[in-house]
Amino acid sequence: MRVRALVSRGARAELAEVDLDDPRDDEVVVRIEAVGLCHTDLVTRRGLGQRPAVLGHEGCGVVERAGRSARGVAVGDRVVISFASCGRCRECLGGHPAYCLRSTDLNGRGRRTDGSATLTLGGEPVFGSYFGQSSFATHVLARASACVPVGDLAPHLAAPLACGFLTGAGAVLNVLRPRPGDRLLVAGAGSVGTAAVLTARSEGVEVVVVDPLPQRRALAVECGATALASWDELPEVTHALDTTGRPEVVARALARLRTRGVLALVGLGAAEAVVDIRDLMLRGLQLRGCVEGDAVPGVLVPELVRRHRAGAFPLERLVTTYPLADFDRAVADQAAGRVLKPVLLPPT
Ligand SMILES: [Zn+2]
Ligand SMILES: [Zn+2]
Repeated sequence: MRVRALVSRGARAELAEVDLDDPRDDEVVVRIEAVGLCHTDLVTRRGLGQRPAVLGHEGCGVVERAGRSARGVAVGDRVVISFASCGRCRECLGGHPAYCLRSTDLNGRGRRTDGSATLTLGGEPVFGSYFGQSSFATHVLARASACVPVGDLAPHLAAPLACGFLTGAGAVLNVLRPRPGDRLLVAGAGSVGTAAVLTARSEGVEVVVVDPLPQRRALAVECGATALASWDELPEVTHALDTTGRPEVVARALARLRTRGVLALVGLGAAEAVVDIRDLMLRGLQLRGCVEGDAVPGVLVPELVRRHRAGAFPLERLVTTYPLADFDRAVADQAAGRVLKPVLLPPT
């Protein structure tokens, strides 16, 4: 099937015609209506060098074709496509598909697990199957098991539920689990941090945001948080979420934790940070990582849709749409903090 996709080569990206393979029995073809831009797309792009690639992992669209054994979705359903998981390993069976033991093979190798390419350009394989999708395109192949129906929710609002908003909300609900009366620090109020703010506020938890960008602080306040530009006035907190991946932020967040407090790391950034292990031990602190909010997408995505409909997760205030061809502008606007969550709309 001939489709159009945003093909990246290093820092350059342009729309091109590519060939999408036929669906396997457990796969569906989804016509993409909207796809979020997530920081991980840009990290992966840097890692791939000049290799041609189709990225994008927050796809939302309509199922157009379904393989014979595709379960849970039907042709005509609007779905978000979350990360792929095997459904059979110890972590999947234990309710932690974000830690699927086959996650790298399923989401990050650029092809199916059997080695076949889902995308070709002029007969040559292109890095595809990114997060089991590669959604910067008009159509994608995805495992039916990674697709979550979202009813009639507008696609540009639904798309970021696939990863970024799932990550922030899941970090609060599944990992940190603060209670009313607790105080949560959110370091970095980008899309992941803002999803965490909204989720924690819904749970009756006080939230303090630290972010240097005034636009982001203003949105955090709108979402019910206290927002600070610097760490000097930050009170003691029971829980903390680092979305920045910056070593100095990790150190500062740990220092502000109350005794027996917990810091969760979701930011992809520096490989190392200095941790005061005596402080960690003597005060009984916890430092833990977290991928995709440790969420089961089929559970958390519908819950976030429900919260949106109840007015507690105002997606329309968080997203800004761009034509897919304006990818570079979307990247620049997000980096400068002019927008929180760019959502790209493929050509029709
Ligand atoms: Zn698995
Ligand atoms: Zn992501």
